[in-house]
Amino acid sequence: MMRRSEHERHILALSGGKDSAALAVYMRQKYPELDLEYVFTDTGCELPETYEYLDRIRAVLNIDITVVKSDKSWDNYWSLFKIKKTEYGNFTYLPSPKNRWCTEVLKLIPYDEWLMKTYPNYKIHSYVGLRADEKRDRKGFTSTKTNIIPHYPFIEDGCNYNDIKYLLNQSGLGFPDYYKWRSRSGCYFCFYQTKKEWLGLYENHPVLYKKACQYETIIPEKNIKFTWCDDMSLEEILLYKDKILSAESNKGEYNGKTAMKLTDVFSALLETKVKTCR
Ligand code: SF4
Repeated sequence: MMRRSEHERHILALSGGKDSAALAVYMRQKYPELDLEYVFTDTGCELPETYEYLDRIRAVLNIDITVVKSDKSWDNYWSLFKIKKTEYGNFTYLPSPKNRWCTEVLKLIPYDEWLMKTYPNYKIHSYVGLRADEKRDRKGFTSTKTNIIPHYPFIEDGCNYNDIKYLLNQSGLGFPDYYKWRSRSGCYFCFYQTKKEWLGLYENHPVLYKKACQYETIIPEKNIKFTWCDDMSLEEILLYKDKILSAESNKGEYNGKTAMKLTDVFSALLETKVKTCR
């Protein structure tokens, strides 16, 4: 592990989630002499619990967190730049797992621009909180620049979910509060949410849920349907709340207006496993 030199910098990107927070604790304990800079890239659409958790990290670890943010807001990108041409005209369209333009414009580009501006010609050591028990096809939130060297301390040291839990509990940091109803950090409208998590957003932040509803475009007579979930609008999620909760309690996800078939349950389970949001 290298100490800071004139042309090197050590950076830990906090996501607002448990793993990167636990990595901050771990690095502090294992490499107390390392001059780490903590950075959070704010999409401007984070959950209130995320901002509260960042404050908790600042207080518990007694650190500063550099907040990086795009010059333009989500609304700028959504309404001005992301237009899809259809046979019925042009419509703004939502990001999706197949087209994650939100991550690019709200996280990756602002982070890269900040790095280039703040540390031009530096060698950057970037510490990433991927766990040893996670899928190896995940890369975490890293830059594409060649002067950035990623480090994966949890993977190198074989730390798994239980180790992360221990680190967070014994440090007094605990988990972010949104873990009571949601399994990952990110924007309040993140399309990686399960329908049960969308209902969690409705219960915990009804105003944000209604805001997310306003981004959906549904024009049935023109067959236009840009919704956060593939198969259901947010209004429909509220309408089918009981069925969604009952399907989820049987480890599936309600994906239509009829009862789920066994194959659908397996597909929903597989889909849940491959979802990542970094
Ligand atoms: S949290 Fe979800 S919606 Fe937000 S930038 Fe990441 S993938 Fe996009």
